[in-house]
This record gives sequence, structure tokens and C-alpha cells, in this order.
Amino acid sequence: MTPVIALVGRPNVGKSTLFNRLTRTRDAIVADFAGLTRDRHYGMAKQGKRQFIVVDTGGLEPDTSGGIFQAMAQQTLQAVAEADLVLFMVDLRAGASAQDHDIAAYLRKLGKPTLLVANKAEGMKNSAQLADFYEMGLGEVYPVSAAHGQGVRDLLDLAVEALQLPDLPEADASADAADTPDNVPDGPIRIAVAGRPNAGKSTLINAWLGEERLVTYDMPGTTRDAITIPFEKDGREYELIDTAGLRKKGKVFESIEKFSVIKTLQAIEKAHVVVLLLDATQGVTDQDAHIAGYILESGRAVVVAINKWDAIDSYQRQQLERSLETRLTFMRFAAQRNISALRRQGLGPLWQAIGAAYDAATRKMTTSVLTRLLQEAIQHQAPRKSGMYRPKMRYAHQGGMNPPIIVIHGNSLENVDHAYQRFLESWFRKAFKLEGTPLRLEFKTSD
Ligand code: GDP
Ligand code: GDP
Repeated sequence: MTPVIALVGRPNVGKSTLFNRLTRTRDAIVADFAGLTRDRHYGMAKQGKRQFIVVDTGGLEPDTSGGIFQAMAQQTLQAVAEADLVLFMVDLRAGASAQDHDIAAYLRKLGKPTLLVANKAEGMKNSAQLADFYEMGLGEVYPVSAAHGQGVRDLLDLAVEALQLPDLPEADASADAADTPDNVPDGPIRIAVAGRPNAGKSTLINAWLGEERLVTYDMPGTTRDAITIPFEKDGREYELIDTAGLRKKGKVFESIEKFSVIKTLQAIEKAHVVVLLLDATQGVTDQDAHIAGYILESGRAVVVAINKWDAIDSYQRQQLERSLETRLTFMRFAAQRNISALRRQGLGPLWQAIGAAYDAATRKMTTSVLTRLLQEAIQHQAPRKSGMYRPKMRYAHQGGMNPPIIVIHGNSLENVDHAYQRFLESWFRKAFKLEGTPLRLEFKTSD
């Protein structure tokens, strides 16, 4: 599972500045999708092939009326509890405050791997203030400047060390996170069902598992262990990754834990295909759009399943159609299936869409076919001249799969505008029938 780093500290020390530095959006094309809302508090940090989920816990505000952490939002406490590593941020310029000491005491008691990060350290090399922070009993103090970027990248190296993650093999460390075409993922197809509380995740999973043969199932020892449920269907092997804190109760699985954003993100990262489960009676909510945004950013294949279809009338259906169109525009590449998990309706077509999305995400595209398609696209519509130069696209090859990456080589490619990129994307999509998977285009200029 992807390790989780929580940023903790009193307000104004620079948590959100650091968060933004660590979680630069991976893909400029993705950021251009209209209607994509991103939750600022959860993001992905990348270091070579390694990924981290970073949570900005907002602020630990002292509460005068009671214990200092009473005012902490439930999700914040949960995030700290679920984190593998805490980055405790303090303000080197302001010095150690009573609040800092309170938080330090809390973290010492918690006993999680913690790094004490002294921010705003630019130009303060031999600051006497630093000594104050050593007194907090959290070991080494790491000066950084989140605003200027000093020491920020090193933090991820320190995180790897503190979490005792094994070294990655040299070859892997420099490679991109995507699978290469020669490196087709084998083994079971991993599926995550992501959705808000009450969308019907447990009901759907039980409907699936009631029909299919459970291969084996081991109860995890502790609640922090991730559950994956292996099963077989029509001769293909699958693995269901739990997002909902499922526990087996008698014959069925029941969700016993509170909704966890972190579990959802970890499951998305681990999956090949994500089923985004919506509740038809609620329409597309803010939370749904956020989850959709994360799925998109992760690059996973996705199927949108609209559950509780049995419970809405034709007027609600119309409204739902409209909210899907306006709020999930950036997921137009995904198939939509209407289902009733409760009545076990629509499950066959949902399976077909899951399989198709997986196949699309792992499609092999040869250089000769890609290059021919590229030439045809240019003939159909040439890219516009921008400034002095017209972009000249020469050939294309597949740079990875899951998600598929098409690398286009040529000259002056930095001048290819977004409209043209979208045109190319839909051109390739149509040719390779890439329904259900994001597609990434990369441009390599050789002049
Ligand atoms: P948060 O409340 O902990 O999330 O803090 P913010 O990230 O909002 O930062 C609070 C203030 O500190 C803002 O005005 C930032 O511009 C400033 N700040 C953040 N990082 C640095 C830094 O490295 N150096 C300096 N001098 N100021 C910083
Ligand atoms: P989870 O929190 O996402 O795991 O949601 P649950 O599976 O616990 O379902 C929440 C509620 O929605 C329960 O009362 C279910 O019986 C109900 N529910 C689930 N699927 C359907 C459906 O297809 N139709 C209707 N009408 N209700 C459903």
C-alpha cells in the first residue's frame, strides 16, 4: 500500500505551502480538464518510482474550552492515526510556542515515526532558535524553506529512511511509474470500488461475492492491514481491494469502519480498474467529484457505476443525467453503467465494462500503427503555426501502459496547443477503442 505522510502543525507554519511543493500535479494535461475539482488536503507526492499520499491536516488549533485537540476535525484525527509518518512543522522564525510544545507532546505519546521540520529557514543557517526545537524530544530538527523549495526534496529521502522502505533497484528508480509495453501486468485484475459512505459499496461487493467463488480468504490480523479479496469469474482471476474497512460477518462482508479518504486513495493506487460508485438518489455530490478527481490523477482505468437505479423515477433520472454531464465532464472517457446492487441488476454489463477498461488500459500499440495514425491525423487536421514555427510531428511510440502513454517525436512540439492535443487524443482513442482508460500524450522535441 502507498505510504501516507501527514503534515501536522499549528496554523501558519507553512503546511499548505509544503503540501503544494510536494504534490505538484503529475500531468499538465490532466490539470486542464474543465470541471476538475481537487481536494487540496490530499495529494500524491512522487519520487522516482516511489509514491506517497500526502495529507495536509489543516491546523491543530488549541481549544480553550477543553483539551487542545478537541477542535480537530474527525478526518484530521483519523488522518494522523492512519498516517505512516508525521511531518511535524514548526516556524523557525517565530520560534517554539506553547502550541508547538502541546503538539509535540501529543506526537511523542502517539509514538509514530515523526520528523520535526523547521520551516521558513531561508537565510537562517545558524539560528539560535533551532536549539529550542531540539528540546521537544523529537530528535533531529530539519530546516527547510517550503516557500523557496530548499530542503524539500530531501524530505522524501528522509521519509524513505524513516519508514524503513527498502531501496528500489537502480533500473526501477529512474523509470516512470507506468508499466512499459514489454512489462504487461500479469496476475489477477485488481479492482477497487470507490464511493461515498452509503453509496452501496458493501452491497455491491456482497452481490459479487455471493455469485462468485471465493478462492481463499484470510482475516487480517489488525485493522491496519489492507484486505484484498481474491475471486474467480468466468475463468479470469480478480482481486478486490477494500476501501470500506470490510469485515466478514457470518456469510457477508460488512463495513464496520468510518469512511476513510486515505483507504480510498490507497486502494485506487493499488487497483488496475476503479469502479466509481455513485448513489443515483443523491446525484453527483462534491465528494463524488473529489474522488473522481483523484481517480483521474492516479491514471487508473475507471468505470462509473450508478447504483440504486431501482430507487429513482424518470424525473430524477433526468436530473442525474444533467449532473453527470456537468460535474463529471472530465470522465467522459469512462463507461457508465446503471445498476442495482440490492436487486442484483445490471451486474453483467458492469463486469463487461470492467474487463473492457482493463483491456484498454493494457492495450499494445505498435510504433508503426501509431505513426500511421499520427500521419492520418495530421492530414485530417494540421496543427496550427504558433509564432515562427509550425509543430512538426514525425513519429509516435508507446511509452507505457496502464495508463497508455503515447510519445510523439518531432520539432517545435512545445507549440502544440491544448485544442490540438485533445484532437489527437480523441483520434487515438477512437482508433484503439480506449474506452475506460485515461490516455496520456507526451511530446519529445529533438531540436
Ligand atoms: P499553514 O497554515 O500551516 O498551511 O501555512 P501556509 O502554508 O498557509 O503559510 C503561512 C504563511 O507562511 C504564508 O504567508 C506563507 O507564504 C508563509 N511561508 C510558507 N513557507 C515559508 C517559507 O519557507 N519561508 C517564509 N519566509 N515564509 C513562508
Ligand atoms: P457503503 O457504505 O457504500 O458500503 O453502502 P452499503 O452497501 O452499506 O449501502 C448503504 C444503504 O444503501 C443500505 O441501506 C443498502 O441496503 C442500500 N442500497 C445499496 N444498494 C442499493 C440499491 O441498489 N438500491 C437501493 N434501493 N438501495 C441500495
